[in-house]
Amino acid sequence: MSMANKDVLKFIAGFRKFHDRYFNDDDSVYRRVLQAGQSPKTMIIACSDSRVDPAMLSGASPGEIFVVRNVANLVPPFEVQGKFHGVSSAIEFAVENIRVENIIVLGHRQCGGIRALMLNQHKPTSSSSFVSRWMEIARDAKEKVLAANPPATTPEEEDVLCRHCELESIIVSIQNLRTFPFIQAAIKEGRLTLHGVYFDLESGELSQLNDQTGTFENIPV
Ligand SMILES: [Zn+2]
Repeated sequence: MSMANKDVLKFIAGFRKFHDRYFNDDDSVYRRVLQAGQSPKTMIIACSDSRVDPAMLSGASPGEIFVVRNVANLVPPFEVQGKFHGVSSAIEFAVENIRVENIIVLGHRQCGGIRALMLNQHKPTSSSSFVSRWMEIARDAKEKVLAANPPATTPEEEDVLCRHCELESIIVSIQNLRTFPFIQAAIKEGRLTLHGVYFDLESGELSQLNDQTGTFENIPV
């Protein structure tokens, strides 16, 4: 097999452990999930960052969460123009077919995508920069943070602005979720609720968006 480099071997070794845990028992989790089909109640939209795996953070078992991950856990607004909408199709499938009852937008501290947006990194040298174009979704969050705070002059102040933008971009994604007609309908029917959650991977704290105040409140652990 051509995949025999050490990182791929590590993946395969990990799969063997997974197999032992989930497939070597007649009453295993997978056999049950296979018989019943998947019916997760919650969709999580998370960052691709290797430190914020939703299944690890939530202790979810197979079949429990429906996940889409992308750079900076962003949700684009509803639009029928354009082309390959991976995130929007996952949301549509979750709400219309699986009929999840919750969508959690899970942001996190030290987000590289948000940092690139805030500090104008990844400046497009050509129109082919995928990250800079993708991060345009969070432009309103950036503008709001820049308008409400003095310009950063130190790395510490830059971190503070990035942190604010990480939180604001969660709010933008929640607002964008509300632009999808099938989400509006599901909320109106009382079968779907939207949640913003922020994981501070430096302090290990979790906070949740309060819809009424628009602020994030610490969740005691
Ligand atoms: Zn991130």
